[in-house]
Amino acid sequence: MTDSPNAGPATDIAALATRADVLLARSTADTFQHCAGWAAVVTLCMQDIERAQTNQLAPDPSAACPQCLTAVERIAAEREVEEARRRAPIEAPKVHYFESTRDAYDETQWNEAIRDGDVLVIASEKVVGFLREAWPAALTVRHGELHTLMDPVGELDEGKYAESARVAAEQAGELNVALRDDHAPDTEPTARQVDDMLQAANEAAIDVTSDPDPENPLWKAAQARLTAATDFLRKHHAAYREATNDEPSDTEPTAAPREEYEAGDRFLALDGSTKTVASTMHSTDGKLWVLDTNGAGWRADRCERIDTSRVGQARSAARRAAGVLRAGDATGDAAHELGDALRYLAQADPDALAELAATGSRITVEIHRLAVVPGDVLHQHGARLYVLDTGVSTSDAPQWWATVHGVTDEDRRATYRAPWTTGIAVEYASGDIVTVERIAPALPF
Ligand SMILES: [Zn+2]
Repeated sequence: MTDSPNAGPATDIAALATRADVLLARSTADTFQHCAGWAAVVTLCMQDIERAQTNQLAPDPSAACPQCLTAVERIAAEREVEEARRRAPIEAPKVHYFESTRDAYDETQWNEAIRDGDVLVIASEKVVGFLREAWPAALTVRHGELHTLMDPVGELDEGKYAESARVAAEQAGELNVALRDDHAPDTEPTARQVDDMLQAANEAAIDVTSDPDPENPLWKAAQARLTAATDFLRKHHAAYREATNDEPSDTEPTAAPREEYEAGDRFLALDGSTKTVASTMHSTDGKLWVLDTNGAGWRADRCERIDTSRVGQARSAARRAAGVLRAGDATGDAAHELGDALRYLAQADPDALAELAATGSRITVEIHRLAVVPGDVLHQHGARLYVLDTGVSTSDAPQWWATVHGVTDEDRRATYRAPWTTGIAVEYASGDIVTVERIAPALPF
């Protein structure tokens, strides 16, 4: 039988078996090399299987069963056509709207009208995603019940979903939300999209800190959202980038210089943070720039030099207000008076503030978020956070921000190891009452 004129070379059938993803097999009836499906009990030519073998090319000299050879050829060809169809770029994805990400998930599993690459919009949860074969995946930072992607959408399956991503970005724009930065690397978001990302970052930060548990997938997901939001903000939010100090400022020089800065001067930068002058320089167009001690450059005409002549006064005012607070009278006014004095000290003389903080004496007060000052210990997300600096950025939409750092190791574990920045649009921050432990220096008797 091995000399049958229709029998093919064993190497051909082995190669085809690999392409068709079937096994080679021996039958009980002859010595041919047959093929069989993975869990099949008969060969493709319907003979009983004696033993199945791997489909990897094996040095078996037996001739191929002609029937199996024809069958496996057809299977390999069909499979390759299907594979090519599966890999073809998505051309005109449809957009489907859902009430919730759970609905979206469920419906993609049974509704044949939702095709591979179609875009999924869930306005109520501010989530936009697409269907990747059987997997509904979000492209926004918020993802609800949808899956997320480890890789940028543009790199998936040789760019198959580029058009889905483009339509998703359009839909996200309608909702004033932004796609995750790795999914839309060349997009310049609108101010409203940036605002929304700040909110998404805050939401994620609350989830991250409310119940820290590295084993919990929900916690890990929140951590991933926070990272994605932070990546986005560092790229698209100038004040956030400045505050996290990753890259130099990109503000452009336009107005007249003012020659009034010396090394060691304290100044208020455009993002509301306080810096110390390291040096000054003129750009080629003659504008004066102030370089801070972190190496960032600021246009002098947009900075405000801090008058440091009232440090002694502020120190006294802080002690006086703290005394009133301790006595329990007029606490609202005293808390603000104390806050003003501390804020001034943080700006004008951080060493003086550190000295007051070192006494360890603090009073817990409830204040508006906008009244938080450097030196406060802010209660947020179930953690206690040192406020290292805080301000309101006016470089675009007014934004309250604070650079904070967990007080204890546990607080840092619950949030971040390194100092980090929390931010919120001023319109939200102004209605927000927070608890802080405020430095309350005792009178120096
Ligand atoms: Zn056969």
